[in-house]
Amino acid sequence: MNDRVNTLLKILDEIYPEKISFITENDPWRFLVTVMLSASTTDKQAIKVAAELFKRFPESSDFAGAEIHEIETIIKPAGLYRTKAPRIKEVSSYIARNGLPHTEEELMNLPGIGEKTAACYLEHVLSLPAVIADTHFVRVAYRLGFTDTENRLKAAAEIRERFPKELWSRMSMVLNLHGRTVCKARPVCSECALKDLCPSSVCGNAVP
Ligand code: SF4
Repeated sequence: MNDRVNTLLKILDEIYPEKISFITENDPWRFLVTVMLSASTTDKQAIKVAAELFKRFPESSDFAGAEIHEIETIIKPAGLYRTKAPRIKEVSSYIARNGLPHTEEELMNLPGIGEKTAACYLEHVLSLPAVIADTHFVRVAYRLGFTDTENRLKAAAEIRERFPKELWSRMSMVLNLHGRTVCKARPVCSECALKDLCPSSVCGNAVP
């Protein structure tokens, strides 16, 4: 890593010293379902909808005989409910039969588990290093020049290649937080602590 990247990460570390999880569910199966629900909606909405879903289906085994229509009705406020409902049923039934996944490969073989959901699970449930390339992370990583692409999958691969494993989880969190608070879709560069080092700053002194 070059000096600029090191300095950027150090500043972000100072701004966001605490580990913050937006989905704090401790039960691994419930965590996975909540992350699945969070696709294309906010974490807050996913958590709310998940709570309703778990009231009706408290255990993964409860999904075995569940009607897709009933699941759809409950999760409709989280969006993409026609896609999410059968996947949640299938993943839950799989876990009820086979137990929880313990590897990335196992996770990725489950229906509807994409790279981001798998990374969240690896990091939160299994405490393994993971690049959680959500929209906020990729936007900030791209603007800071940590990756050359805004494509989520490619960006995650580039970050894994360019940065040591020990940094992945921490980077995921600080870039995500910075993207939610300052480096939003419309960045507030004038208030950004990185503005003099960021190649995308509209008001700093960084050389693009
Ligand atoms: S200077 Fe602007 S573009 Fe760069 S990280 Fe800060 S808010 Fe984002």
